[in-house]
Amino acid sequence: MKASAFSYARATSVSNALELLQAHGDRAKVLSGGQSLMPAMNLRLISPELIVDIGELTELRGIAVSGNILRIGALTRHVDLARSDEIVAHAPLLSEAIGHVAHPAIRNRGTLGGSLAHADPASELPACMLALNATIVVRGQTGERRIAAQDFFTGIYETALSPEELLVAVELPAVPKNSAHFFHEFARRHGDYAILGLAAQAIVGGDGLADLRLAFFAVGDRAVLAKAASRLVGVAMTPAVVAGACTALSEELDPHDDQQASASMRRHLAKVLLVRCVATLLGRPDLAAGGSA
Ligand SMILES: Cc1cc2nc3c(=O)[nH]c(=O)nc-3n(C[C@H](O)[C@H](O)[C@H](O)COP(=O)(O)OP(=O)(O)OC[C@H]3O[C@@H](n4cnc5c(N)ncnc54)[C@H](O)[C@@H]3O)c2cc1C
Repeated sequence: MKASAFSYARATSVSNALELLQAHGDRAKVLSGGQSLMPAMNLRLISPELIVDIGELTELRGIAVSGNILRIGALTRHVDLARSDEIVAHAPLLSEAIGHVAHPAIRNRGTLGGSLAHADPASELPACMLALNATIVVRGQTGERRIAAQDFFTGIYETALSPEELLVAVELPAVPKNSAHFFHEFARRHGDYAILGLAAQAIVGGDGLADLRLAFFAVGDRAVLAKAASRLVGVAMTPAVVAGACTALSEELDPHDDQQASASMRRHLAKVLLVRCVATLLGRPDLAAGGSA
């Protein structure tokens, strides 16, 4: 199938893009890498009247470190994230996760901003934003809004962005020296969307965890920051503690059924990942020896 007829405008600046979006409202769509937008248009899942191409806006590209904040422009491509020394040094979770996003051809065009604005619940990057405590920076004609990642994703393919706004950047606190991360997803093939995944960021202290953010994805209508993490922080880690966290996680999650997995299978996989995550973060294979409890 081919997309319905549409008009095309190449934005010459951020203000020009915002003017076009303001004038056309929800009849317009922003084009970044096109890796989700174009398939959706070709399948006629959406039929915008106007495409606002922001691909030439170099001011929206790039990765910069200022103090302990890492700012990533919305148009930064997945391949640029994968190759960045700044990301390796300050947000290594993202470096590890990016290799699981689709395939090289898609990573060469797909962008961070596009992936977050698209808000697929099975996507890796929204979960990383939750785990890394990101702030999403959006701009409209009346000014800029800074939205905590936790409040940005509001449902399946839904975010706090209005049709007149652009996602312009993401800001991440650089991870401290005593931090550790974990990323794993179950997928039918490497590069497929996840059946279930976990992105986690922790601070390791003493013989346990001083902080832990567990972001599960493909568990419902959006990535979820699990409250069960609080049961694993500031305690002496034992298999019983981990088992207690698994029970709390299972009660907290409300996964969906689909052709890839049932809700109960997703609940089981989430517990398996939680156990593996804690064992990996602490270098304690003994914690994983008993399985998912
Ligand atoms: C075969 C295939 C497999 C894939 N597998 C995965 C996968 O495993 N994991 C995964 O996460 N993704 C996957 N993707 C999606 C891919 O990662 C896309 O690159 C990404 O979702 C969107 O980025 P983009 O820059 O291409 O956005 P686009 O397709 O250009 O835009 C996506 C949506 O975001 C909006 N948008 C884009 N940029 C902005 C902005 N700056 N401000 C406001 N709105 C904006 C658009 O209007 C559109 O609604 C896959 C895609 C394909 C085709």
